[in-house]
Amino acid sequence: MTFDFLRTRLRQGTRTSPYPRGAVELPERFRGLPVIQPADTPNGRPPLDVGACLFSPEEAGPGPAGTVSFSRDHRMASSTREGLVTSTGEVELAHALDAEMRRLFGRSLRLRSVVAGSCGGCEAELAALGNVVFDLARFGVQFVASPRHADGLVITGTVNRNMLDALRMTWEATPAPRIVIAVGACALAGGPFRGSPEIGLPSGIPVDLFVPGCPPHPLTILDGLLRLLGRLPGE
Ligand code: SF4
Repeated sequence: MTFDFLRTRLRQGTRTSPYPRGAVELPERFRGLPVIQPADTPNGRPPLDVGACLFSPEEAGPGPAGTVSFSRDHRMASSTREGLVTSTGEVELAHALDAEMRRLFGRSLRLRSVVAGSCGGCEAELAALGNVVFDLARFGVQFVASPRHADGLVITGTVNRNMLDALRMTWEATPAPRIVIAVGACALAGGPFRGSPEIGLPSGIPVDLFVPGCPPHPLTILDGLLRLLGRLPGE
């Protein structure tokens, strides 16, 4: 029995992604950061909001912002909402927290997930961060059950009006200083429900990291988190 286990383990090898030190293999159908082809009337084109993008095939092709296609680039989390609005396809990638916040959270960060009106897709990707491939815990980041034990919140979903008070109470129950991470097109811009009167955005809660996607790939979330914590080699 013991030898069976060891044999299986040897056959499987190391399953954990080499990211961020090595190259990342993404599935063929992965759709990353949108690329905008140079528009023939550059001054007349409205910019593209990557935060509101659903990364659907229907969004590719000619559109108001120019001709859009999806790259293989998983890096697109930003420290500001405006950093995700682009005319060129370039987004302003997240910058590291200040030195004091990095001293507090850089090696150990506990997060509370707040599902504020989500389809479950974003939470599935957050859960995947804990699997053997992405192994979020190797960076000292873990999810906890109570906001009182947390250093920050991860918000998913449209923040519908019914969840707004619960979200604010959870934020207030998280001890300061705290960080807030908004994950997915719903939390950033309402997602497929954008424009609905039931959406409570903007929630008034200060956000430190905006992660686009519907849902974001675990590597997009991980990349944003490591940028925020100043943990990316060479950054
Ligand atoms: S962003 Fe997409 S995957 Fe995430 S909760 Fe909204 S609809 Fe679901």
